[in-house]
Amino acid sequence: MNNADTQPSALQRLRWAFVRILFISYLSLSVATLVGGYLTAPLMSWCFFADWRFWRYLGPGLKLLPHGLRIMYLMFRQERGFMFSVPLSSPPHQAPDPAIAVRRNDWSHGVSCGGCTNCCRPLGITCPLLASEDGHCLGYNSFYWRYFNCGRFPSVSEELEFYDCRKWTLAVERM
Ligand code: SF4
Repeated sequence: MNNADTQPSALQRLRWAFVRILFISYLSLSVATLVGGYLTAPLMSWCFFADWRFWRYLGPGLKLLPHGLRIMYLMFRQERGFMFSVPLSSPPHQAPDPAIAVRRNDWSHGVSCGGCTNCCRPLGITCPLLASEDGHCLGYNSFYWRYFNCGRFPSVSEELEFYDCRKWTLAVERM
């Protein structure tokens, strides 16, 4: 089996790009109308919590819009372009790509993050998907998790610096 066999097809890449553009358009419409996300709560809930039963996530769900607007504003103001680092046609990820990110030799907590939640506090603002009780992610493995930054974190060195992540390093840096 050669490398071409494992590479996603152009059609597959097109599908991933289309799905992301559709989601970004849905989010933009929801923000522009302010009520769009509430009127389509089961869909919004499925996108962020992998569960269409939105009434189970009212607390964090209602914080998503103000949180998203604040993050976008600060991202542009502080020129944090790396937060848009997910290519539209890239595959969804449930975990970091082992060809890109590897655990540091001096990381002592194994697969766990050992109580750290830095990357869930972009620009110092706690993500509403982070459960306050035990710090687990309510959006784990959801559409948003897999198709955007969370599932593949880390993928670029700026992220490691910005979040002061002590768990991961980029494979190229280790060589
Ligand atoms: S910054 Fe690194 S160690 Fe901290 S929660 Fe994120 S991945 Fe885990």
